[in-house]
Amino acid sequence: MDTGVTGFKDHSISGIMIPMRFRSTHSSESLVSFKDAVLHCLPPDGGLYVPDRAMDIRQLFLYMDEETGFSDLVAAVAPSLLEGGLNPLSASRVAESAFNFEPELIRLDDDYSLLNLCKGPTGLYKDFGIAFLAAVLEELHKDSPPLLVLAAALADTGVSMAHAFGGRKGMSVVLVYPAGRTTEPPPAIPSAVVSNGGNIIPIQVQGTFDDCQRLVNETINDRTFAARYHITGANTVNPGRLLPQAFYYLYAFIKIKKQLSGGLAFSVPCGNFGNFIAGLYAWKFGMPVNGFIAAMNANNALGDFIKGGAFIPCPVIKTNSPALDVSIPLNFSRLESFYREAPAVMRNMVYPASVDDELTLRTMERVWKKYHLHIDSNTAVAFAAAEQTAAGLDWKGNVHTVVLATRHYAREAELIRTVTGETVPEMQPLQQTIEPVAVISPNLDAFQGIISRCFQ
Ligand SMILES: *Cc1c(COP(=O)(O)O)cnc(C)c1O
Repeated sequence: MDTGVTGFKDHSISGIMIPMRFRSTHSSESLVSFKDAVLHCLPPDGGLYVPDRAMDIRQLFLYMDEETGFSDLVAAVAPSLLEGGLNPLSASRVAESAFNFEPELIRLDDDYSLLNLCKGPTGLYKDFGIAFLAAVLEELHKDSPPLLVLAAALADTGVSMAHAFGGRKGMSVVLVYPAGRTTEPPPAIPSAVVSNGGNIIPIQVQGTFDDCQRLVNETINDRTFAARYHITGANTVNPGRLLPQAFYYLYAFIKIKKQLSGGLAFSVPCGNFGNFIAGLYAWKFGMPVNGFIAAMNANNALGDFIKGGAFIPCPVIKTNSPALDVSIPLNFSRLESFYREAPAVMRNMVYPASVDDELTLRTMERVWKKYHLHIDSNTAVAFAAAEQTAAGLDWKGNVHTVVLATRHYAREAELIRTVTGETVPEMQPLQQTIEPVAVISPNLDAFQGIISRCFQ
């Protein structure tokens, strides 16, 4: 391990901390361990799991610097957060086996940096959470009966899951994807990890993506059934996917802190608000930060809520930054719980911004011309939102903003060419499409029936 980790061992505050517990957004009554939260995914009362309190681990990462690698940071920070849930040895195994890719902080000028989260197998920031969840499940569930991990997936998530979970010991993954009207292709998964001897089981549902998500959640919440097959879920509602996303905010902080003369802010492109919530967790873990910009496209109903109004969902508007086209964010209740706890703090720290299609394209073009860097449309929304906010609050020269790049630009080669005139090779993670093990109608009996048949 490098000096970043050994360097602060002496200052370790482990041993005197009470481990972080998780509670439901609906109640603070029953607290569960990280392990239980990850293995059950959803609390029985219909809420979502959130950390039960703030946990200041700043003493740990304040000693780290630009020499510290990402997996070293994860290996050092995770055991302190999850003490008892993940010991230091387990944590470094998990970090090493999850992350053969790293975030990259690119300083653009005095006011802006880009946190490139696009170096995973699919070029999406979601690779981080999925990779950690797969590794941590393997570690935590050692020597126990095999786990069954359920996930509703479209193209990209399916590929990312196959990469992260394929060949992991002690678990099978049921990937549920829609056959119905969807603009996205089904997941393309390497055949080596599917069925015959592989641990990824694709099941097609004759319905929509929402049907898939509903079947997964209902099955997790059928506690008797879930207990029989040791079922958990791999969608972002699982805290084991959300929590590791806080780590790359800390990583950005340790890389940039020496160069900061004023404040620090993050601009995050928001769809289901998972990435954004992870940033708020990083702040709760002690990361010094002045603000978070919640960057939205035309689907900006949550902006009113952030400004103190009610959240009134609107129908989804199709935009040119499709990852952000969400009407009711899955993580809304997690965000709401932050506002319930400390409304004034949140209102002073969270800046909503909405960016239209035209500005999105102009920003892609301008970033290319000014910095000679390509960014994708979702990242452009965050960049434009950062510029808008900085201008409105007079941040120039005072607050440095880190813009999260969530999708590799080469996933949008066509658009890049239209906007900048540059030809970049298209990034296509995988083209091989697989046959589903079964095609079922969108009802719970059919879904549970196929699980019982596969795993009796
Ligand atoms: C999923 C996704 C987002 C939105 O992240 P949430 O956690 O859902 O808010 C942003 N950009 C890209 C490229 C994504 O795939």
